[in-house]
Amino acid sequence: MAISSHSSVDGLPVAWYNLAADLPQPAPPMFEPSRDEPLRPSSLAAFMPAALAEQEFSTQRWIDIPPEVLEAYRSWRPTPLVRAVRLEKYLRTPARIYFKDESRSPPGSHKLNTAVAQAYYARQQGLQRLVTESGAGQWGCSLAMACSMFGLSCKVFMVNLSCQQRPYRRTLIRLWGGEVIASPSLQTAVGRRLLSRDQDYKGSIGIAIAEAVENALGEAGAAYGCGSVYNYAMLHQTVIGLEAAEQLAALDEKPDVIIGCIGGGSNFAGLAFPFVSQRLAGQPIRFLAAEPRACPTLTRGRYRYDHTDAAGLTPRVKMHTLGHTYVPRDIYACGLRYHGCAPLVSHLVNLGVVEAVALSESAALKAAQLLAATEGIIAAPESAYAVRAAINEAVRCRKQQSSECIVFCLSGHGLCDMEAYGAYLSKQSKTVAEKPSLVDLLRWSKLGYT
Ligand SMILES: *Cc1c(COP(=O)(O)O)cnc(C)c1O
Repeated sequence: MAISSHSSVDGLPVAWYNLAADLPQPAPPMFEPSRDEPLRPSSLAAFMPAALAEQEFSTQRWIDIPPEVLEAYRSWRPTPLVRAVRLEKYLRTPARIYFKDESRSPPGSHKLNTAVAQAYYARQQGLQRLVTESGAGQWGCSLAMACSMFGLSCKVFMVNLSCQQRPYRRTLIRLWGGEVIASPSLQTAVGRRLLSRDQDYKGSIGIAIAEAVENALGEAGAAYGCGSVYNYAMLHQTVIGLEAAEQLAALDEKPDVIIGCIGGGSNFAGLAFPFVSQRLAGQPIRFLAAEPRACPTLTRGRYRYDHTDAAGLTPRVKMHTLGHTYVPRDIYACGLRYHGCAPLVSHLVNLGVVEAVALSESAALKAAQLLAATEGIIAAPESAYAVRAAINEAVRCRKQQSSECIVFCLSGHGLCDMEAYGAYLSKQSKTVAEKPSLVDLLRWSKLGYT
């Protein structure tokens, strides 16, 4: 149904797919930040590009991708759909494992898919600058690059601790022309208040969002850009699933299980939503959302109204949430340390269409190590959770002798995350008596894969 009714050119979709058009029940409405009134598009447009505020409320099934955005996409899309043959062999599974490789974008993750759209609409509106927050730096890099493509300036409030811990992403943002401000900063009232209490305040994503929104509201020609959670970010990411659907069809494959890791929900939504329309039309596809045990939003959070930022400046949306003041434990997958999850993904979990699973960090990193040893690709610590969930499904298929087609999203690469992998390896060599050789890695019974 829906996904076959629209066209693509050279494997690149020409329209984004809007799941809101096909939901059996609409997602619950959003509310104003501090009033019990339904959210108005104008309230969002006060700090975001107007076209995005409009897309947020759209129920139109297909939204044309502007030609300028398509042209930008062409520089790295369509991304490959790779069959992980050596991983399958290693796992001795009858399942076929595919991954959609979103690590191929220049900044190394799926986030550029929405970044270029946001920069384009901001430019169209005559804005000069986009302001945002960044934790690990993936979103900051993508928005900085997109802004440079469309001739905008970009300001990134980067969590102070990440600035110190992730110097490479900080440098990348600056190479793409972005300005990096350690958050909390003296540029905003929120930041000044916090710094007057503690000069070395380490910061958090919630505070960085609050600073970015305050900064965007206070500056003419500037708007705030958000990398996930909002409906428009899910919409832009559907190029992932639309391409994958076409690539799978060309291989005569029908997916049985679709998997993505969950932070704010955008890479999962991007791969899954076009296939959700097939499921709603009766095809028995399973959807698996993999989240960290350290931040178990979908498996342990409550489905209720909450703010999307920690300071309570943004609209209230109905989602699975651990509470907007919840501070998740420090894990390497910074991009998954978010208290809530996109309202559309939460809605699908609530309807029973999407299953969620919480995985441990060590299990996820082990899976990434196995993917590296078999397929050569270094997954982002975030994507490692999707890799683990895919491996678990492939192992289940082996036990059940079931030859299923498993597709997961490799949301990004981990080449800027060597601190995480370095720490993981040194911890591992302390627990494994002898350092494993590559041959050991490939046998790997001691690490629990057989
Ligand atoms: C930001 C990020 C995530 C998490 O965000 P989602 O909106 O849930 O996709 C996952 N993987 C990578 C590589 C990221 O940069």
